[in-house]
Amino acid sequence: VAIPYRKGLHEIGDRLYTYLQPDGGYGWSNAGLVLSDGTSLLVDTLFDLKCTREMLESMQPVVDKSPIGSVINTHGDPDHCWGNQLVPREARIYSTSAALAELQQLSPAVIRQMADGGLGAEADEFVQLVFGPFDFADIEVRQPDETVDERRTLLVGGRSVEFIPMGPAHTKGDAVAYVPDSAVVFSGDIVFSSGTPVTWEGPLSSWLDAIDRIVALEPSLVVAGHGPVTDLEGLTTLQGYLRFVQEEASARHAAEVDFEEAIHDIDLGQYSGWQYAERIVPNVDAVYRELEPEAPARSRVDLLALMGAYRKRHARA
Ligand SMILES: [Zn+2]
Repeated sequence: VAIPYRKGLHEIGDRLYTYLQPDGGYGWSNAGLVLSDGTSLLVDTLFDLKCTREMLESMQPVVDKSPIGSVINTHGDPDHCWGNQLVPREARIYSTSAALAELQQLSPAVIRQMADGGLGAEADEFVQLVFGPFDFADIEVRQPDETVDERRTLLVGGRSVEFIPMGPAHTKGDAVAYVPDSAVVFSGDIVFSSGTPVTWEGPLSSWLDAIDRIVALEPSLVVAGHGPVTDLEGLTTLQGYLRFVQEEASARHAAEVDFEEAIHDIDLGQYSGWQYAERIVPNVDAVYRELEPEAPARSRVDLLALMGAYRKRHARA
């Protein structure tokens, strides 16, 4: 894919843009923009107001005659929604109802509290890595105006954009925006195109199905939620990793290997060079949860602490 992976706004097709935030790590998400006659649609906002403001300013020249009239939140994770308050008041924001529920579960106050520490050394250190670069002051989470739970064509001026719910996958409420006239998919976090993907919901089988559904759209380009713009090859690579985790974790579960032991025991092999290898923790958690639906869920904070511990233990020299 010829789109350079540089911070900022990139034209990727006929009146189609993406705003990229390398390196695509925790909180560094991508957004999309679909222009039409007299109006445009934004796919996702960013994690905090500073990032979102910078993005909207970079888009200003192109949306000058086609102001943002609608927004899709691909899912409820804050790095795709917490800039919502900066889009024009009259713009209509869409998400799935599950994404709305997930968005309501986490508040900026909770994140600020987490960032203040007190979760234990390993979790604290990791939380700093994840949230440290961002500023959660002044965020008043603007919620989507309308939830959509089945495939729907949104008309942007005279242009069709398909809103396609695909969760549960990365989260419960994942959806993609598909622009049929250009065969471009804005996938949200169903696609991570650099570094290790992270599962907050799963099961992985359902995530793999969601990727199959994107493949079936025969996209020429896929704007990932994190990482460079990709194509079918990126989808295949991602599926390879998810299948690998599914197999390795299932085998250990069948051999009655305890969850924490399984995490450290899995040799990441060809994936060991990928950034954010510690995401094996929530990824294996998703497999174990699927296999032990009756077991009490591990908390997000416990998982963050285990991810911090994993980073330390497996840090490359
Ligand atoms: Zn994300």
